[in-house]
Amino acid sequence: MKHKERYAQMRKALLGWFAENARDLPWRRTRDPYAIWVSEIMLQQTRVQAVVPYYERFLKRLPTIQTLARARIDTVLKLWEGLGYYSRARNLHRAAKEIVAQFDGHLPTTREELLTLPGVGRYTAGAIASIAFGRREPLVDGNVTRVLCRLFRIEGDSKDMTVQKRIWALAEELVPEGHAGQFNQAMMELGSELCHPRDPKCGDCPLSHVCEARRHREQSLFPTRVPKKQLPCYTVVVGVIYRKGRILIDKRKPEGLLGGLWEFPGGKKRRDESRAAALRREVREELAITIRVGPLLAVVDHAYSHFRVHIPAFECTSVSGEPRCIACDDFKWVRPRDLGRYAFPAANHRIIEILRSQKKRHS
Ligand code: SF4
Repeated sequence: MKHKERYAQMRKALLGWFAENARDLPWRRTRDPYAIWVSEIMLQQTRVQAVVPYYERFLKRLPTIQTLARARIDTVLKLWEGLGYYSRARNLHRAAKEIVAQFDGHLPTTREELLTLPGVGRYTAGAIASIAFGRREPLVDGNVTRVLCRLFRIEGDSKDMTVQKRIWALAEELVPEGHAGQFNQAMMELGSELCHPRDPKCGDCPLSHVCEARRHREQSLFPTRVPKKQLPCYTVVVGVIYRKGRILIDKRKPEGLLGGLWEFPGGKKRRDESRAAALRREVREELAITIRVGPLLAVVDHAYSHFRVHIPAFECTSVSGEPRCIACDDFKWVRPRDLGRYAFPAANHRIIEILRSQKKRHS
C-alpha cells in the first residue's frame, strides 16, 4: 500500500473511531480558545480526571483572559493549589497580561505567535492552533509518541532529539486539513484509552490493521524503554513555629520551583548536621529569628519530576527576634484555622492535614 493511501485510511479510521468513542470532557464542550488554552496547560503532566475539577473551578472564578490578567497571582496560585508544576500557573497569568497588552485581549491564532507567550511550547501551540482555531498544525505528547512509535516501529530513545524530530515530522504529515483538531485529539485519546504503555487493547484499536508493531507482535518493544536513573533524595527539615497561638508561614520568592507559594519555614539539611540544627540554621537564614525545636510532628515523602524530598516537620516555638524576609518574599503569623486560605505546595498540605487531624483528636 502506498503511504499516502495508508495515511488516508488511518485518518478515516481514527476520526470515525473518535466520533463514536470520544470521552465527554468539559473542554470538549466549548469552542472558547481561552478555555481550551487553560485546559491544555492544566493537562500537561496531569491526569484528565485530576484536571476536571480544577478546570471548572478556575473558569468559574476567572472566566475570561481579562479576568485572569487582572487577578492577583495569589488568587491564581490558590486556584492551582494541589495541581503541581506551579510555573504553569505563573506563566498562564503572565501570558494573559501579555495577550491583553499586545494582542488586544484575544488569544493569537497562529503557531508562531502562540509560541511567543510564556509557558507555550510546541505542543501547546499546536493544540491551541488546531483545536481552538482549526489550523493544520500537528502536536506530539507522550500518548502520541507511543502511538506513532508503535504504528511505525520507530526505534531509539523516544526522548532523543533525532527520534523526536522524526515523530514530529510524521505527526505533521498525518494531520489532515479541515479536521486537525479532531485528529490530534483522537491520537491522544487512542494513546490514553487503548494504546496503553502495558497491555494495549489492540483488538479494539481502529488502527490495528496498519500497525507495524502489532503485525510483528512487538507492541511491548515500542517505544524503546531507556532505564530510568534513580532520582536524588534530599532531606528538607521544616518547622511549624508557634507564637501566641499563631503559626509562622513564609512565601517563596516568585522565581523557580514552587515560586510564589506559601510554606512552613525550613530548608535542606546538610550532611553533617542534625535535623534540629539544620532547622535552626535555615530559619535563622530565612527569617532572622531563633527558634526552639520541639517534637517531631510528621514525616512526609514527596516526589517531584527530578528529585524526591524527605520532610520531617517539627513543632517549634519562636524564642527571639522579629521575622524579617531575608530569603523569602513575605511572611505571616496565621491562625491554624486560616492556613487553608493560602496556597501551599502538596508536601506542606499533607503537614496541614496532619495538624488538623491532631487537633480533631485532641478536641
Ligand atoms: S494496534 Fe495496538 S499497538 Fe498498534 S496503535 Fe493500536 S493499540 Fe497501539
